[in-house]
Amino acid sequence: MQGSSSISSSSVEAPTPHCHYGVRSPIRTAWKCDYPGRRFYGCSGYGTSMKCSFFQWYDPAPPARYADVIRRLLETNEGIRSENTKLKKTRQELLDEMRRLQQSVHETTAELEGAVAASMAMEDNMLASVATTRRRGVVIIVLISVIVLLFFFPTKVAS
Ligand SMILES: [Zn+2]
Repeated sequence: MQGSSSISSSSVEAPTPHCHYGVRSPIRTAWKCDYPGRRFYGCSGYGTSMKCSFFQWYDPAPPARYADVIRRLLETNEGIRSENTKLKKTRQELLDEMRRLQQSVHETTAELEGAVAASMAMEDNMLASVATTRRRGVVIIVLISVIVLLFFFPTKVAS
């Protein structure tokens, strides 16, 4: 307890360090390290023409197992990201497939409408043909009846 409280109070009360050039180093946050989010003093001249690379941790080193936990979380996060990318791809493929199917349905509907129209025209022709045949049939039956009557009862018809 004594040790941990003295560490935290020392990290809070520690004076802002100056770099090799005497510049005060602001507190920054490291992300690309074993403990993402761990803060450090980094010279404001870093990455500039000063090329100052002054560096000193602000936060104390976390327990070693935190690095393992964080690494696993990052791996899980990476897995979720790649899964999300796959799902987006699958979604796009499904949308494309749906558009193709809609196009196919559209074409099939047009074909069916054409076939139905042709079928109806054919049915009309057949009905007209049946009506003509019926009329002819009636005429033929009447003619046969007249012939039969004339043949079997020629006297009756004649008289
Ligand atoms: Zn510096």
